[in-house]
Amino acid sequence: MRESALRIGLVYPELLGTYGDRGNALVLAQRCRWRGVAAEIVEVPAGEPVPAGLDCYLLGGGEDAPQHLAAAGLRASRAALVRAHEAGAVIFAVCAGFQLLGHSYVAADGTVLDGIGLVDARTTAGATRLIGEVVVAPDAPLPLLTGFENHGGRTTLGPGVRPLGRVRAGGGNGDGPGTDGARADRLVATYLHGPVLPRNPALADHLLGEVLGPLPPLDSVWEERLRAERLAAGSRTGLARWWQQRRLARG
Ligand code: GLN
Repeated sequence: MRESALRIGLVYPELLGTYGDRGNALVLAQRCRWRGVAAEIVEVPAGEPVPAGLDCYLLGGGEDAPQHLAAAGLRASRAALVRAHEAGAVIFAVCAGFQLLGHSYVAADGTVLDGIGLVDARTTAGATRLIGEVVVAPDAPLPLLTGFENHGGRTTLGPGVRPLGRVRAGGGNGDGPGTDGARADRLVATYLHGPVLPRNPALADHLLGEVLGPLPPLDSVWEERLRAERLAAGSRTGLARWWQQRRLARG
């Protein structure tokens, strides 16, 4: 059993917390405590350097303006994040946080934000925003994932980058191949808000497992009921959006 508390870093919540992604930190901490593992949430306020000694680093979503400030802070703390990740920490990034892990984000007003290049990806704001329920099919052993998206950015992954999964409904990266997010050792990025981890206990446990190793199962009845209900909603809206686009395409 682990000696010290698992330290879950919530990076710039006042900038990258527009869509309630703080809930992801609460879920990771609670799923540790239910297993008898002490956990603490360490908030990293905007303007402060990101500390290197945390076990998890959570980056949430945010609109373009606060994203500018978050980009500057992350660039200044890039070395600490790289050092922590190389030392075994896990990074979980949602939407704006995901975009800033890449090389660049061209915002809706044409401003180019330089990211930290931890993921070989580039994002450019599209003509429309992608808003609505999303269903993503990751590689096994992760099950279908449900979430909510609200972003203008379209992300293109570099040739060697593995997506988190394929989009079954909704937009995700908004790229041609119909993917969402990115996935690497001890790193998961996605466009799924919700927050995504209360909806997807298996993804939460995947992230914890990357740091803690094999975990005893938890009774996730209520979380799975929420997941099933949102997957059904995502499939309904996904089908409706597909049908609408097909009718529009036909004129
Ligand atoms: N500002 C970014 C975009 O519009 C990210 C939005 C978000 O984090 N939901 O694409």
